[in-house]
Amino acid sequence: MNSRRDFLQKIGLSALAIPILHTNNLLPSGRLDPRHLSKPLDGPMLRVAIMGLGGYGGRVAEAMLNCKRAKLTGLISGTPAKVKAWQEKYGIPAKNCYTYQTFDQVKDNPDIDAVYITTPNALHHDQVIRVAKAGKQVICEKPMALNALQGQEMVDACQKAGVKLLVGYRMHFEPKTLEIVRMRTSGELGKIRFFQGLSGFTIGDPTQWRLNKELAGGGSMMDIGIYSVNGARYMVGEDPIWVTAQETKTDPVKFKEGVDETIQFQLGFPGGAVASCLSTYNMNNLDRFFLDAEKGFAELQPATGYGPIKGRTNEGELTQPHVTHQTVQMDEMAQILLDGKTPIIPVDGNEAVKDLKVLDAVYEACRTGSKQTLNL
Ligand code: NDP
Repeated sequence: MNSRRDFLQKIGLSALAIPILHTNNLLPSGRLDPRHLSKPLDGPMLRVAIMGLGGYGGRVAEAMLNCKRAKLTGLISGTPAKVKAWQEKYGIPAKNCYTYQTFDQVKDNPDIDAVYITTPNALHHDQVIRVAKAGKQVICEKPMALNALQGQEMVDACQKAGVKLLVGYRMHFEPKTLEIVRMRTSGELGKIRFFQGLSGFTIGDPTQWRLNKELAGGGSMMDIGIYSVNGARYMVGEDPIWVTAQETKTDPVKFKEGVDETIQFQLGFPGGAVASCLSTYNMNNLDRFFLDAEKGFAELQPATGYGPIKGRTNEGELTQPHVTHQTVQMDEMAQILLDGKTPIIPVDGNEAVKDLKVLDAVYEACRTGSKQTLNL
């Protein structure tokens, strides 16, 4: 029987009795920690400034309103009108608002513990390093950088500055995803044989930064294909040792030189499992993970959207409750940064460098047509 339902029956509660399931309330086994029922999520608040008041920054800010351990206390933006609107909406004082020219001064602001960077990909490298030098904890959106070399420089800068670097891998805290990881690590699925990752959508406005090589660093692989790269690693539970990849471009006007439209790639893992993945900006309905193993299977579809995530395994439908990913992520990250908690799936800069190494190899495999060896 499903572990959560099993637990609820044992304690005689209906599912409605637990309004929000935070993954920090799951035991390492994936079962609900009974102490959660009597012990609310308490402890100091992580005070966060968001850098880049765009679509995703707005989603994170909204989600943090429901956090128990994280709250928005600062803004960094190049658009004064947005700053004004956000100040009013979230009650942020002027002394906690910065521009891209002035944000090094967060160093002297005791109201800000961490800066969450939600700007276009190409800006992450310099911004992360500047925040680290200002002595604040850093949370950076995916892709953390444009390549593994940049990523390693960011990890090194944070280490040198004595701050932590986390990456917005929200799926690492998603309950159905974690249940599959639990089934794999407990041995219930047996030896992992195959992973399929399909990640794509049809992108609109051709003038947006996502289709600008200078700001995006590439095309669909940087934005959406990275979910299949990262997902392959946490679903299989190993780091790949080789990559092959093939690129297809049907619209070279919209997808210019260096901006990939569609890439298929394959990964090989040390335990013998293989992965077959697709990343595209030119097809809809592609958000699916499938894991095939010796004793069973697991699938998620949608696998990485904002939810509800849906999935099933050889045991039946996955019934873990829907959570707002960014709320859970920020409560979990507060515990990682303030309490030293270790997440079930890593979300640090080193984890992101591994994905960037795979992305580098995918692009190199497309360019050369040859198999790339990986050493993550
Ligand atoms: P948006 O274009 O909606 O927002 C980016 C913001 O960055 C802008 O609004 C702007 O804010 C700021 N900015 C600074 N310099 C520039 C520039 N040169 N061009 C454009 N914007 C600039 O992008 P998203 O919010 O969708 O994406 C931001 C990051 O978040 C990306 O790295 C993306 O991959 C990631 N992301 C992650 C998701 C996830 O699920 N984890 C989902 C969506 C995005 P201001 O005006 O305040 O300066």
